[in-house]
Amino acid sequence: MMTQAMKSKTKTTKQISEYFGKNVFGPKAMAEYLSKEAIKSVNESRTTGKRMDMKMADQIAEGMKNWAIEKGTTHYTHWFQPLRGATAEKHDSFFDPTGIDTGVENFTGKALAQQEPDASSFPNGGIRNTFEARGYSAWDPSSPAFIMEKASGKTLCIPTIFVSYTGEALDYKAPLIKSTTFLTKTAASVCQYFDENVNNIKISLGIEQEYFLIDEALFNQRPDLLFSGRTLIGNMPAKGQQLEDHYFGSIPERIYNYMTDFEKEALKLGIPLKTRHNEVAPGQYECAPMFEEADIAIDHNSLLMDVMQSVAAKHKLRVLWHEKPFKGVNGSGKHNNWSLVTDSGINLLSPGQSPQDNLQFLTFFINTIKAVHEHADLLRASIATASNDHRLGANEAPPAIMSVFIGSTLSDVLNRFELSKPTAKPNRVSDKTISVYRIPEILLDNTDRNRTSPFAFTGNKFEFRAVGSSDHCASAIIVLNTIVAEQLKQFKIEVDALIKKKVNKQAAIEKVLISYIKSSKKIIFEGNGYGDEWVLEAKKRGLSNLKTTAYALDAYNSAKSKALFVDNAIYSQKELEARTEIKFEDYVLKLQIEGRILGELVNNFVIPSAVSYQKDLVTTISGMLTIGQTKAECKTLIELSKEISKNVNATWENNNKMIEERRKANLITHADKRAKAYCDKVKPYFEIIRESADKLEEIIDNEAWKLPKYRDLMFIK
Ligand code: ADP
Ligand code: MG
Repeated sequence: MMTQAMKSKTKTTKQISEYFGKNVFGPKAMAEYLSKEAIKSVNESRTTGKRMDMKMADQIAEGMKNWAIEKGTTHYTHWFQPLRGATAEKHDSFFDPTGIDTGVENFTGKALAQQEPDASSFPNGGIRNTFEARGYSAWDPSSPAFIMEKASGKTLCIPTIFVSYTGEALDYKAPLIKSTTFLTKTAASVCQYFDENVNNIKISLGIEQEYFLIDEALFNQRPDLLFSGRTLIGNMPAKGQQLEDHYFGSIPERIYNYMTDFEKEALKLGIPLKTRHNEVAPGQYECAPMFEEADIAIDHNSLLMDVMQSVAAKHKLRVLWHEKPFKGVNGSGKHNNWSLVTDSGINLLSPGQSPQDNLQFLTFFINTIKAVHEHADLLRASIATASNDHRLGANEAPPAIMSVFIGSTLSDVLNRFELSKPTAKPNRVSDKTISVYRIPEILLDNTDRNRTSPFAFTGNKFEFRAVGSSDHCASAIIVLNTIVAEQLKQFKIEVDALIKKKVNKQAAIEKVLISYIKSSKKIIFEGNGYGDEWVLEAKKRGLSNLKTTAYALDAYNSAKSKALFVDNAIYSQKELEARTEIKFEDYVLKLQIEGRILGELVNNFVIPSAVSYQKDLVTTISGMLTIGQTKAECKTLIELSKEISKNVNATWENNNKMIEERRKANLITHADKRAKAYCDKVKPYFEIIRESADKLEEIIDNEAWKLPKYRDLMFIK
């Protein structure tokens, strides 16, 4: 029999399926609010990318509005992803005061299809002339509309692309869609070698998101966290992550409540969150949704970050997205699990049961490796940001050297494959070939994991681990999609050429793949990516090790990259140049802000704290001397005072030197050269200043120290 307590429990604990996707204008809501004809039109423009006519758009807008209003929504916005991090919105109300008598709630097809946010407020890398500030956002029906619930109210959000008035993309979405189309089309054409019925390929993407949480009140007391997202000074507490007890410990109650709260909001938005756990560093956590189609997964990641931050405010917490908010503990990444799936649901990066299936698997597997080999520098550039520089190559994150980890089973397969002879006769598989193709069907459980690799094969997908936790995934995925598509395109050309010369199809495929293994195997690395030996070994192999964004970004400007993007119509030359410029500018701005904040911190907090403690010391010393104590008896206090003076002077002088270097760098007009000056001349002072400031934190009275310390920030109560 059910007790009262059980009854009320069953009543209050809702199953996820009861609210999953409830705030999304997806198939269920559409069926209820749209005519069959309208649904057909949405689906059509979703799959073909064709523009729908205005009459239909009006109908859809009407249905969407009715759905949203019934859920208590008063405003709508076009929701887009401009080139600097976060998402952007411009809210308009449904209310139309020009309606008969009292006004009406109105939403037209035109308002659904297009909005005109002022493009001059968003980074555009010189695309927009100042006299033509207009840009417009246009509805992207491939991503469903949703309702964002915030404390301030509910808003209907319409996912859009954002373009300048002259047609250049000003966001991530448009080029992402282009790169997706390029890859899915080329992958489908290669798939036809194996199965003529395959017409459509989808890109699957599962994004793991790492983050730090800290108490909001403490966050607000640290200007460096507030303005740069990371601590610019501060010492590790005696106990950090050495014991690794955080990872395995249970999730603290306050954090757990926060997690379940944001998960619920995310699930309502149709974000299929599955996993939550502690991460290695104290105060660090991770969440991961189930993989989805890449474009949707990327929208969902941006949306998730937005939801997580706004729910955190309710819990008086702050999410730190920065890759390295604290020196001395692990940083955060955003692992992008990426694969290709056919319309019949076959994962192309999953080995199959037959040799034929496995040849298909090897085709996509080897082509991806070759793509990374050919365009390693561009892939590195795609994840380059000022904040990710603190993580890549910083000894506990994937290094800045791009390499691919595939595990011992597949290394062995590739070795055997390389030594085998292409099959001489069609459809006849020699014994040797069979052994080559004998790949355990379920690699998932027996692929060794390598946490030190930036790009690892993990059983049925590649995991691009080097992407930064604060970054927009589109930057990485646009490049990954494009380089793999370009590689598959080349592959098809080579195989077709052999077939034309009467080589049988299978032998042609094998021959080309074997040549790829030979030419790209130096990118495969199975060892410890954190070790110094790898740096030396990579150098010997001729792999580049671009540790800083200021230099990594040059890859976007190479003739090879221009050809890749422009010839395949992912970016126009103008768009590519503008984007690269924005990335360089972004780097400079971040370092400029950090430099200024650091200056403020040392002048307004560190030095005054040190001096006030020193004043106490000096008063005590002179007091001791007046009562007849000897200098020898004051020795410790005198030394302490001297040590304070030494570090105060060093902090002050180095801060002035940094300011001078900043001044010089700011005079450089070219963004890429300015970035390099910031990297080489300004940034080194951050560590130098920090050293003396941290020394002061170490020796000064806790009472006198005005800033919350690491030990307060990292261990949430
Ligand atoms: P890990 O061992 O890294 O924890 P999981 O299997 O838990 O791996 O998956 C991590 C992420 O990878 C999840 O977001 C998951 O949905 C995603 N993922 C799993 N399979 C695929 C796939 N075939 N394509 C893309 N992403 C996938
Ligand atoms: Mg993972």
